[in-house]
Amino acid sequence: MRPRPFRLLRPETLEEALAARREWGDRSALLAGGQSLVPAMNAGRHRPEVVIDLKGIAGWGGVHADDTSLTIGALATHERVARLGAADLPTELAQVPEVARATAPHPVRVRGTVVGNLTAGFRGAAWPAVLGAYGARVGMRHVERGVAAVGVHEAPGLASEGWIATEIVVPAGHRIGRAEVRVRASGRSYRVTCAMAHHAGGGADVWLCGLTSSATHDRVEDLSDDDLTHLAQGRAGQVEASPRRTESGADPETDERDLWHAATRTVLRRARTELEENTR
Ligand SMILES: Cc1cc2nc3c(=O)[nH]c(=O)nc-3n(C[C@H](O)[C@H](O)[C@H](O)COP(=O)(O)OP(=O)(O)OC[C@H]3O[C@@H](n4cnc5c(N)ncnc54)[C@H](O)[C@@H]3O)c2cc1C
Repeated sequence: MRPRPFRLLRPETLEEALAARREWGDRSALLAGGQSLVPAMNAGRHRPEVVIDLKGIAGWGGVHADDTSLTIGALATHERVARLGAADLPTELAQVPEVARATAPHPVRVRGTVVGNLTAGFRGAAWPAVLGAYGARVGMRHVERGVAAVGVHEAPGLASEGWIATEIVVPAGHRIGRAEVRVRASGRSYRVTCAMAHHAGGGADVWLCGLTSSATHDRVEDLSDDDLTHLAQGRAGQVEASPRRTESGADPETDERDLWHAATRTVLRRARTELEENTR
């Protein structure tokens, strides 16, 4: 399918991009690497009248690390982050380039951005879990509401309300444990990612990102905080998550549910082991 005709704007500054966003509101879409937006437009799921291409904004493609944090610019690609070496980063952030290397096929990695990945709200991605566990903040600007620094899971909602993400700041305060499992069921491929960090008050903060289909990622959200705590403590057998009904009203198939539970248990166990090793 071809996208419906649209007007392309190429702002050269954040202020111009914000002004375009104010003028066109939700009839416009921001374009970074295009790896999520363009397929959505081609499939007719997204039909903006105006596309605001951010790639002309100077200085947004870089990454910068010092002893305390890593800053990922809004146009920094997965590949740019993947090329960071251990010597470029504080020790605690050594897993960040590994996540970038595992994200998407190479042609997608050289175009797609980490910020676009977060703002697209792609739940099958590893980035939201890993950056969440690190306590990363997304810097955002709104033409009327000013400046904000928000948690990674708030970014998709704010982006759809007209905020523009300018950077991600990943503090070097935590060591994390991370694991990822891919499963195939009923001809579909799923991925479950877990990242966890020690909680300041004891225990672990657990971040789960799930899966490529809405029916299955709903199930991630069905797990209560208590369920996650039990799982993180290795008491997986105690959890009986009851899947929500899917949008079509049908319950997900049992074999997929079992697989999903097995994958979730596996990533939680592995992430916990890695966290213990990393903090020993
Ligand atoms: C074949 C294929 C395989 C893939 N596999 C994976 C995978 O295994 N793992 C994975 O994590 N991802 C995968 N992706 C997605 C990929 O990582 C994309 O790069 C990413 O999801 C979007 O980044 P982008 O720069 O291309 O964003 P775009 O497509 O340009 O934009 C995505 C969304 O974010 C919004 N947006 C972009 N920049 C900003 C901003 N600065 N402020 C506010 N909103 C903004 C856009 O308006 C749009 O809604 C895959 C994509 C493809 C095509």
